[in-house]
Amino acid sequence: MHELSICQSLIRQIEALARQHRAQAITRVTLQIGPLSGVAPELLEQAFRVARKGTLAETARMVTWRAPIRVRCEQCGKESAAMINHLTCARCGDGHTQLISGNEMQLVSVELLGGGHTLPSNGNQEDTAYV
Ligand SMILES: [Zn+2]
Repeated sequence: MHELSICQSLIRQIEALARQHRAQAITRVTLQIGPLSGVAPELLEQAFRVARKGTLAETARMVTWRAPIRVRCEQCGKESAAMINHLTCARCGDGHTQLISGNEMQLVSVELLGGGHTLPSNGNQEDTAYV
């Protein structure tokens, strides 16, 4: 199961973060998931409930945000929002666009118990880890 291995590596990553901050537990993990990432948020949450057993994230809640799809037009250079099956430019309608977001899975924040740290969504690079 694809999502289970994602969760296992995610948990390794956030456990390392928790240890860095000397936290007793992870209370919440927030992820931003692009619709084109190939990861289904509901399957990921199910897999997380299995993968977290016996880890510092055992009682953690997983929150998933849906990332917007954005493209940059190769014709006019405009960046715009796009639909999942319709990656065209919002300004000129051209279909030659580059995907600039929507296919990523990103760790947004981790809330820890005992370490007193919450990583803000615009958190500094040092504390924000990417999957
Ligand atoms: Zn365009």
